[in-house]
Order: sequence, then structure tokens, then C-alpha cells
Amino acid sequence: MISVSDLFSIGIGPSSSHTVGPMRAALAFIRQCPQLPARVEVELRGSLAATGHGHGTDRAIILGLVGYEPTTLPVDAKPASGERISPEGHHSGPAGELDYALIFNNEALPQHPNGLIFRAFNTAGDQLGDTLEYFSVGGGFILTAEELAEQLAGDGMKAGAASADREISVPYPFRTAAELLAHCDRERKTFAEIVLANELALNPLPAGSTIPPIYEHLDQVWHTMKVSVSDGMSASGILPGGLGVVRRAPLVFDSLMDGIKRPHGEGLDAMEWVNLYALAVNEQNAAGGRVVTAPTNGAAGIIPAVLHYARDFTRDFTAEKIHTFLLTAGAVGIIIKQNASISGAEVGCQGEVGSASAMAAAGLCAIIGGNPAQVENAAEIALEHNLGLTCDPVGGLVQIPCIERNAIGAVKSINAARLACLGEGTNRVTLDDVIRTMAETGRDMLTKYKETSLGGLAVNIGLPVSFTEC
Ligand code: SF4
Repeated sequence: MISVSDLFSIGIGPSSSHTVGPMRAALAFIRQCPQLPARVEVELRGSLAATGHGHGTDRAIILGLVGYEPTTLPVDAKPASGERISPEGHHSGPAGELDYALIFNNEALPQHPNGLIFRAFNTAGDQLGDTLEYFSVGGGFILTAEELAEQLAGDGMKAGAASADREISVPYPFRTAAELLAHCDRERKTFAEIVLANELALNPLPAGSTIPPIYEHLDQVWHTMKVSVSDGMSASGILPGGLGVVRRAPLVFDSLMDGIKRPHGEGLDAMEWVNLYALAVNEQNAAGGRVVTAPTNGAAGIIPAVLHYARDFTRDFTAEKIHTFLLTAGAVGIIIKQNASISGAEVGCQGEVGSASAMAAAGLCAIIGGNPAQVENAAEIALEHNLGLTCDPVGGLVQIPCIERNAIGAVKSINAARLACLGEGTNRVTLDDVIRTMAETGRDMLTKYKETSLGGLAVNIGLPVSFTEC
């Protein structure tokens, strides 16, 4: 089983697959070297090359090579987020210093759209060790070439399961929503209770402790979400990258705090707060700030926005409900990841914003009284109405349409949870049906709509003269 802690990791923006994953790959490559090489050459392939500058892939790789990792990287580490980076240079960090060379090649490796090829050299220019390939498969997960081959040879599922997959048996294994519902039915347990039991097998209670390690992780996740919302609401200015996108969260916050300026607030206050929370997180993400990958960075605003909605607009919100929400959302993310993909480069934005919407809808439904069937229905409704959503970030930046799309996705999640709670949990379309449809739609989607910035909005809006992306 994938752990919920793998789905909700703490990292930096703007992209889980193009920033967090490549940083982890660079760090993994360096860690397998017997000693720090004098020079490392990194070839960025496919989508990582096509949108790598805008997604900060170049910065992430350099920082990973010198020993930084996404969870603890200072957000103001040099080179700064949005800074133009030379393809060749010298850098230092916790692991030491080295020369680097980055080669951008838009041609994808045959196995996967997000490939990286690493070579290490000594001071005499001789190659050290083997040339190694890594793949960033979404949500910050990475696979070596061997791991990816194993996954692809497995059962034909998308290469979305993780290097963090573990060969540990859990009490309630599930691959599909139907299997999870069967556990719930038989054991009279909720999604969250089933997932908690599995988490305790993956990460047992430390001796003398009564607090499951996953709860400690989820508390950190919630804390990081709150900080990203509050920081995003107070940070003003223009986002990096050259598109000239102005941060809107502080303006929306001021407007909400001053009802007179709000032209259309009547009856829609909750929705406007949800919009604000999502904008705040995604603007922080776009600026390279710290966010929770949930389940990706591009879609990082949806779950925090819906959790903040639950805190501020639902009755009897407690810390326990935060755990229930995130464990339930995690269950849905696990099913999607095992059967389809959470990567925009693999299946388009339906895999990112669609997955986050489904996860948030399930989490909210669970804490407002939904039974397991209604929770499954909530996730199904939210994902169904994101089917076919393409990934076409303008200029390769995670800004347009990504930031607003999170606000829309969060509102959709709340609507899906409410609709599901009005029903009996019996529905003609199941979550498994929709996940299968998403995987097929993603396979059929033209490559230009899968995080290459070669189609859709990315080619249909004029770029400003100041735009610096290649
Ligand atoms: S369009 Fe969607 S999938 Fe693509 S980068 Fe933006 S949020 Fe991610």
C-alpha cells in the first residue's frame, strides 16, 4: 500500500512533478555516488525540458545535487525561485560543491514524459559510475528506470505507484473503491478507520506512545496548510516568471474583511472565503513557497481550501475531524494513484485538479456525516466533472490556469460532498468507473495537452513583452 504520508508531503512550489520530484531525483543520484563528483551532467527529457524553466526544474535539480531536499529546503535558498539560471555553472550546499550542466531535450524518453538522465564526472573529465535514469511520475514520486520497468510490466496500470511503495502487509489491502467499500461494510468501519489501521501496519506506534505516527504527520500537514494560507493572504506583488500575474489573495482578503467593497457577497460568503484560501496557497506555490503536495503542487490549494471551509463554516469542527478528513482524502488519492495517475504529464489536469477535488470531496463528506457509500459518491461526483481537463499552463508556469482552477476545484468539491450527502450513496456511476475513464481519457489525450505548454491556453493567449520563459 502507498501510505497517506506519501500522498501528503511537505515541499516547495511550484510543481510536484517538475520541482519536488526532480530535486529528489538529483539528491538520490548524488547519494548513490560513493563521493561527491566534480561535475554532474543532467539531461531533462520531455515535459521536464518543455516546461522546466517555468516550473523551476533547473533550480530544483541544482539544489538537489548539492544536498538539499524539498521538505527542509529554506524557501529563500539560492538560486532564488524565478531567477534565470545558467545551464552550466557551479553551486554549493550541504553536500559540498560541484559543477553542473543542464541539457534540455524536449524529446521524451520512451518510458515516460518526465525523464532525467544523470552522469557524474571527476576533475579529469572521466565519467564515474553508470549513467542513471530517473522518472518523476507525479506528486513528487520518483522511480528509477528499473522500478518504472517493473511497474509497467506489472499489471498495465499507469506508472503512478511510488518508489515509496512498501512490501508490508496491511490488514485491509485495497486497490479499488469497491474493495475499500467491502472492507467498510464487513468491518463496520469508515474509510478513515480502515486507512488508519493500514497506516499503523506501515508505521507502527513507537514504544510507549499512544499517538499514531500518521497523526503527527497529518498535524504537520495541517499546520503547513494553515501557514501557506495565511502567508498567501498577506503577500502582495507580482508572481515570478514574467507573465505579470498579480497576487489576488490579499486583495480578496481585504475585500472580504470590508463588506462594503464586496459587490456580490450576498449569500456567497463561504464560497468567497474558499476562493481566497485556494488562491492564497496556489500563489504561494507559484512563488516557490512551502506548500503541502496534496496530491500535487499544481493542485495544492484545493484540500487546504476545503479544510479551511470545514473549520470555518461547518459545525463542531475538531482536531479529530482534521485526521478523518485527511485519511479519507488519502484513501481516495491512493485508489486514483494505483489505478490511473495524479500526474498532469501523464493524464492532463484531470489527474491533478480532478484528483484533489475528489479527495477533498470525500474528506468533507466524511466529516459532515456521510457514510462510506456517500463518501465514495462524493469523490465520484467531483472526479466525474473534471474528466477530460487538459493541462496547458501558460508559459510553463503554474499560474494560468492553475491558480484559479484550484479555487473552482475547491468549490466543486464542496458541492460534490453536499450533493452526495443529499443522496443515499447509491449511484449509477461508481468511483472506480470514473477512475478507469480518467485513465483511458488520459491515454487518448494528445501530448500537447499534458504539461508541455504546446497546446490550449498556453498557445492562445499573448505573452507579455516582459516574459522571460524560453
Ligand atoms: S494545468 Fe493543472 S495539471 Fe497542469 S500545471 Fe496547472 S494545475 Fe497542474
